[in-house]
Amino acid sequence: MGYVFAAPGQAVVPVVGTTDLFPVHRIYCVGRNYAEHAREMGFSEREPPFFFAKPADAVLVIAEGAVGKLPYPPETSDLQYEVELVVALGRHGRANSAQEAAAFVWGYAVGVDLTRRDLQASLKKQGRPWEISKSFDLSAPISAIRAGRDAGRVDNGRIWLDVNGERRQESDVSKMIWGVNEIIEHLSRYFALAPGDLIFSGTPAGVGAVVPGDVLDGGVDGVGRLSLEIVSA
Ligand code: MN
Repeated sequence: MGYVFAAPGQAVVPVVGTTDLFPVHRIYCVGRNYAEHAREMGFSEREPPFFFAKPADAVLVIAEGAVGKLPYPPETSDLQYEVELVVALGRHGRANSAQEAAAFVWGYAVGVDLTRRDLQASLKKQGRPWEISKSFDLSAPISAIRAGRDAGRVDNGRIWLDVNGERRQESDVSKMIWGVNEIIEHLSRYFALAPGDLIFSGTPAGVGAVVPGDVLDGGVDGVGRLSLEIVSA
């Protein structure tokens, strides 16, 4: 017996300061998790965290000091950046409390939740799934993962993103509406969490469009940074 064709490769993210690779299981994302971003998207109420997902092979790994290249994706004319703290999980099962959730954290990275905002707006209006606006190829650029044993607990720290050297997003991860442990606890009500899961924890205000030629540079203090150039497809 054998596979009918070569099995797909395992998506991996390198671990800072080692030759180790973190195998990606699933990618979950949290919507509207900073009050000012929720407001800029037209929402004001505090609501329970909500989730969407991207395929594991949507990661675009950007090594430390490198500039990743992202071909401008098809079927959009409003590609937008969202810089986010990414939480990497290292444990199976369910977190029954925020306290239990802390033990699921393996490490952290910096990610950009790329979004076809024009498609998302029209899907929202029609009450349709966000899939094609959020879960496209290479829609999850990510830095190397910093292990929790090095980073400590990341519950504060500046999160920022520049486009062509101009500051567009800046906040502090302490301003997340739902903190890392609360996100994990909520998410595990709906899914069996597993080692290799990545959680994009939401973006601060200041999201906007980019075009080919633009260079994004973003980071979370104490975690890392990443650089990404949008190139013509
Ligand atoms: Mn996002």
